[in-house]
Amino acid sequence: MNDFRYKLARFFSGRTGVDALGRTFTWLALILMFLTMITHSNIVYLLAMACLIYSLWRMLSKNYQKRYMENAKFLEKTAGIRSVLSVLPFKIKTFINKTKADYNQRKVYAIFKCPSCKQKLRAPKGRGKIQVTCSKCHAVFIKKV
Ligand SMILES: [Zn+2]
Repeated sequence: MNDFRYKLARFFSGRTGVDALGRTFTWLALILMFLTMITHSNIVYLLAMACLIYSLWRMLSKNYQKRYMENAKFLEKTAGIRSVLSVLPFKIKTFINKTKADYNQRKVYAIFKCPSCKQKLRAPKGRGKIQVTCSKCHAVFIKKV
């Protein structure tokens, strides 16, 4: 058993192992395999296999220096995308909250634009015809709410 462990450790020593680039290709392979199940496309399947083999090959590669450089380059090139992806959940949440708030406002308030300066205005709904004074240009007009 110890011998096996030793052999295993020896096998993996000096190899690249899992890095960000390898992990990305593993995920790509999984996504493509999932797509294969939906599309039954041979091309997608081959791409999935290629990604999987590439990520395995990277993991086992003994040219650590070269793989390290590839990974660094990959991280550098995807820095923009990765920072966008990291704030995306927060942006989506903000957008949903804003939409919800807007929707709730629209239930209670009538939202319209001032006919002379296009300023967005609001008034409580269900009062019939009201006289509105624009908060920006002070134009007075009649609005049905
Ligand atoms: Zn106005």
